[in-house]
Amino acid sequence: MVFVLNFMDIEKKITETIIKYKLMRKSDKVVVALSGGKDSTSVLYILKKLGYDVHGLMIDLYLGEWSDIHKKNMDRFCGEIGVPLTIVDMKKEIGQGICFVKAVLAKKKGLTGCTVCGIVKRWILNRWARKMGADVIVTGHNLDDEAQNVLMNFLKGNIMLGVGQGPATGNGENVGDGFVQRVKPLFFVPEGEILSYARGKKFDILYERCPCALGTYRVDTRGWMREALSDEEKLGIVEGFMESVKGFKRSERKVGKCEVCGEVSRGKICKFCDIVKCI
Ligand code: AMP
Ligand code: ZN
Repeated sequence: MVFVLNFMDIEKKITETIIKYKLMRKSDKVVVALSGGKDSTSVLYILKKLGYDVHGLMIDLYLGEWSDIHKKNMDRFCGEIGVPLTIVDMKKEIGQGICFVKAVLAKKKGLTGCTVCGIVKRWILNRWARKMGADVIVTGHNLDDEAQNVLMNFLKGNIMLGVGQGPATGNGENVGDGFVQRVKPLFFVPEGEILSYARGKKFDILYERCPCALGTYRVDTRGWMREALSDEEKLGIVEGFMESVKGFKRSERKVGKCEVCGEVSRGKICKFCDIVKCI
């Protein structure tokens, strides 16, 4: 009985976020970025249940057995709920797996940790979602991820990095030719609730954290944040931040196209080409 109530609470919260922030319409082609973890699996399941036209998109990052198990799980899960799945082979797409990019290429640029993975994933997801004719890309970011972003930017001394943070990335600022809007229906759902949902529904997936993320700044922040803050406090941080920077622009620089790959970029060369193409 408790689980039944929880399930409905989360589904209601997601529906309210979609309506309030106009994240997607029933006529949209909705591409869900699937890592195979509890967040993206749950959001795919819920959006399908709510009647959206959903398609799964997963990047095989070449993290050995970890990637193989996630691929098998998502292949089975999508088959069971009747959702088409596209798996992008990272080596075929860019010539390298994520470990080489992180350990060798990004290091030369002084970049480490989850930042690198984020840049590579966003680049591949945008390209593929566009190829698939997507109206939006859904990611599984939850309230804990968002509170963590606000705190990490603050600790780095650059709170303005978070301007534009919201259930629709960039608040439409960078939507243009070639950019597929990214949306986060789980924006206001705490991680604990989504974990209960996935476990309650008995989703047969891996519940462990990405092996690459262990020991990173992001995971350390997540650890102490979980100990120190309640879900209400995390919500207060995120909502308070969004309210404080309402109307601000992240940068005066207009969003243009990368001179190398043609993808959306704030600079002449996008962050992806800077790292992966060693420019
Ligand atoms: P992470 O950065 O691993 O916390 O993932 C955040 C979100 O990015 C997930 O909820 C997914 O929506 C998406 N994502 C992460 N890894 C992948 C992947 N290998 N393929 C496609 N989407 C992914
Ligand atoms: Zn580029």
